[in-house]
This record gives sequence, C-alpha cells and structure tokens, in this order.
Amino acid sequence: YFDEEIHLKGYSEIETISDAFNAMLKRLKELEDSRQEFVSNVSHELKTPLTSMKVLAESLNSQPDTPLELYKEFMQDIAVEIDREDAIINDLLSLVKMDKKAGDLNVSNVNINDMLELILKRLRPVAAKRGIELVLESFRTVTADCDEMKLTLAFTNLVENAIKYNIAGGWVQVSLDADHKFFYVKVSDSGIGIPEELQDKIFERFFRVDKARSRETGGTGLGLAITKNIIMMHDGAIKVKSKEDEGTTFTVRIPLTVES
Ligand code: ADP
Repeated sequence: YFDEEIHLKGYSEIETISDAFNAMLKRLKELEDSRQEFVSNVSHELKTPLTSMKVLAESLNSQPDTPLELYKEFMQDIAVEIDREDAIINDLLSLVKMDKKAGDLNVSNVNINDMLELILKRLRPVAAKRGIELVLESFRTVTADCDEMKLTLAFTNLVENAIKYNIAGGWVQVSLDADHKFFYVKVSDSGIGIPEELQDKIFERFFRVDKARSRETGGTGLGLAITKNIIMMHDGAIKVKSKEDEGTTFTVRIPLTVES
C-alpha cells in the first residue's frame, strides 16, 4: 500500500514538472516567434521608403530631358520618404532604449496639470490646421512622482492620434482626475473610431487599422507601443473604448508615486 502511494506521488510530481517544462518551452517558442515577427516587420517598414525612393530616382534617370518642374516634384517626394525613414528609426530607437533600460526612470515631482497644458499648447497649431479644438478639463491639481519626459511623450502620442484620426472641425478633450493612489488621464476624440475586433491589437508594434491613412499622416505604427511601454514602466495601465464613426477614448491610470 505504501509503495503504491509513494509511486503515485512521485509520478504526479514528474507530471507537474513535465507540465511546467512544456509550458516554459511553449513560452520560449512564443517569444522567439514574436522576435522573428518584429525583425521581419522592421525590415519591411524600413524597406518601404527606400523602395519608393529608388523608383523615383530611377524614373528621373530613365528620362533624358526631364523638365525642371518634374525634377523638383520628385525631389520633394524623395524628401518626404527620407523624413518617413527618419521617423521610423527614431521611434525604433526610443523603443529599444526603453526595452533595455526597463525600470530606469528619471523620477521627479511633476505638476501634471502643467505638463498636460504644455502638451496641448504645443499641439494646438497642428489641430487648428484641421479646425480641431483641443480642450483640457482638470478636476483637481495633481502632482506625481514620475518621469516627466517619458510621460510627455506618452500623452503627446495619444493627443496626436486624437487629432490625426479625427474629422475636420472635430474636438479632442483631455481630462485629469486623481484619487489618493492614482491619477487618471482621459483623451477623448470625435474621430473615426476603431473597429471593436481590432481594439486589442492597436498597441502592437507596427499595427495600424488603415495603413494608408497612417502613412498619409506620417505615422510609423509605433506610437501606441511606445506609449504603452512608458505607462507600464510607471506600473500604470491603459485601456481604450471606441465606436466607429463616433470617436475614441483612451484612459490612462498612473500611480502618484512610482518606484524608480
Ligand atoms: P500610427 O503611427 O499609425 O498612428 P500608433 O501606434 O500611434 O501608430 O497607432 C496605431 C493605430 O491605432 C493607428 O494606425 C490607428 O489605426 C489606430 N488609432 C490610434 N489612435 C486612434 C484614435 N484616437 N482614433 C482612431 N484610431 C486610432
């Protein structure tokens, strides 16, 4: 009787260890797959502007007497592609830097009202071009221990998107509130919205709902990945609520004090 119990116990332990081992292997395989997918996405994204530039340059070279006007036009197109390549490389560099130094925050006591006001002030001229109004609604004065530069980048990305994926003459509202533990920032817009089934995906690197629209507005598909990364570094959370053709609201929750 004893023998059998020992035998059974031993067997179930082996089974547990083997389950844990299999789970670990599965996780490693998932990580390797996502690494490979990322590398292949990066290569593709970096190649696209190069391909356009090559086509533009070749078509100029193939015509012996290109009028100066056409030359100028093609050169302008090439400059746009160079800017695009530059934006992708810059975004990739910020992502890689954050991956490497996770937890390495430059923490100081930051007035969040001032920080948000400055972000909106900088973006108002961009919004005005499309007749979009930016409004800040502060329910209280909030100071928090956080990384001001990183959070400025995170919230700038959200407000920029709210402008980019909006309708002409629309609005963007940013609101700030807090309780004894967290502060909450909401960025709402009257824009095109995000289809329900894609709302989980938009935080993935290089994911865009509409590639053409993202390209037109100079998007790299990395903005929300960067924003989420920064919020995670602060032990915060971000969620999205959206309805197509009505608008989108991103809600961010960040602890008032973060471990540096
Ligand atoms: P992008 O550089 O393309 O803007 P992001 O990572 O910032 O990349 O966003 C990913 C995608 O999520 C965008 O391409 C867009 O399709 C969608 N998106 C982000 N913010 C909004 C928003 N406020 N309204 C509608 N769609 C949005």
